[in-house]
Amino acid sequence: MAAYDYDLFVIGAGSGGVRASRIAAGHGARVGICEDDLVGGTCVIRGCVPKKLLVYGSHVAEEVEDAAAYGWTVPHPSFDWATLRDNVQKEVMRLNGVYKSLLKGAGVELVVGRGRLMDAHTVAVGERIVTAETILIATGARPWRPDVPGAELAIVSDDAFHLPALPKRVVIVGGGYIAVEFAGVFNGLGSEVTVVPRRELVLRGFDEECRKAVQDGMAAKGVRFRTGAQIAKLERKGAAILATLQDGATLEADIVMYATGRSPNVAGLGLDKLGVHLDKAGAIAVDEWSRTTVASIYAIGDVTNRLNLTPVAIMEGHCFADTVYGKRPRKADHHDVPSAVFSQPQLSTVGLSEEQARRIYANLHIYASSFRPMKYTLSGREQRTFMKLVVDAASDRVVGVHMVGDDAAELVQGIAIAIKAGATKAIFDATVGIHPTAGEEFVTMRTRRPDPAPTAQAAQ
Ligand code: NDP
Repeated sequence: MAAYDYDLFVIGAGSGGVRASRIAAGHGARVGICEDDLVGGTCVIRGCVPKKLLVYGSHVAEEVEDAAAYGWTVPHPSFDWATLRDNVQKEVMRLNGVYKSLLKGAGVELVVGRGRLMDAHTVAVGERIVTAETILIATGARPWRPDVPGAELAIVSDDAFHLPALPKRVVIVGGGYIAVEFAGVFNGLGSEVTVVPRRELVLRGFDEECRKAVQDGMAAKGVRFRTGAQIAKLERKGAAILATLQDGATLEADIVMYATGRSPNVAGLGLDKLGVHLDKAGAIAVDEWSRTTVASIYAIGDVTNRLNLTPVAIMEGHCFADTVYGKRPRKADHHDVPSAVFSQPQLSTVGLSEEQARRIYANLHIYASSFRPMKYTLSGREQRTFMKLVVDAASDRVVGVHMVGDDAAELVQGIAIAIKAGATKAIFDATVGIHPTAGEEFVTMRTRRPDPAPTAQAAQ
């Protein structure tokens, strides 16, 4: 008789946990997984998937506006939030079902409830106690909001999918992924949106020119910005909320949404008693094999706060399962991970920003292009696409690819393969474009930007 109930027990059935459990089961392990919510995790239930559907929904307004230039007459369009909201939730429930059947099909047992570690091989799920040779923590992260008076009056992204009505006025606090994505959604659907980032530019960490292109593009579509500002307090004012900024200025809105980051879901897991160490940010500390400080316990995904992206959690989960159960040791590779921000305009990137690359390479060649996409030539929409290649002059390797504009994520996903393969600028140049597309610009940029003045370069 086996010493443990399972070979592997996974806490948290999000993207990472589900992938790890399915792959481990495929390698022959006896696997159980617990979840106290819908199966699918943040991405499927209250993140990437429903968000992207809202982004599609909010784009329709522009499509309708531009239709006239293509000869279409669209009589008085109107928008019904409840229809979009409910259709999105139907899709979420469908995917929850798909994820459940994937687990079942793989022979993974789903235990409904919240998992709590009792010892290095034992998990309590409600009343049930299960034992496993190995435990994988994949509990993700949750929205975090600063401790300001009245912060509880604000919503977070989780709530945005369930609003009873489309708010007329929205204030969004923060300047990260979630802030700019939801600003685009609400703005596209017709709300008046004000974003309050604490810096002058949104999307810290991305290429500076791209940050500016996104912010300017959003402003051109009607999103207002109160940059370099912080909320001092929130108060009720009738049905509205009054936000007072630290400089004393006030903003009135129907909803205020905090998008000020996410914190790892470690509370209530019982980690401290077991000796599972956390890092300074409160995330579970792991080695390059996703192993925690307790040998039988591993952790993957946002709870480890490495690179908080769904496909990264999936990669970490897959590597873990191949390593521990598949006789194929594999470390997750966190280099050159492409990502996208589904803001409007959209931003996508792979590799280094120009600022990051300047800190690593002595000489860079920068190629950049800004143009109005063909689609908008007839409608006259003032929306530009920006593209940029960052090249290490010494090796000719393209070390950064950036795009702000329609379909940026779709394009950069393909180019990411070339970057992963170590493509040089000469290989980009030798690639024939597809005409007419925006993407061909990536293989036809020939004119280098003048190098920055030596003093400016030295100062960076
Ligand atoms: P981010 O870390 O992206 O951004 C947080 C924002 O809040 C930053 O602008 C930050 O400013 C600001 N902030 C932090 N603390 C405060 C404070 N006390 N007062 C005011 N502003 C503050 O977090 P998000 O919540 O937007 O997203 C969480 C994570 O989820 C992302 O890091 C990303 O990995 C993932 N995600 C990915 C998506 C995608 O791939 N498309 C979509 C959505 C989320 P500052 O820059 O100054 O620190």
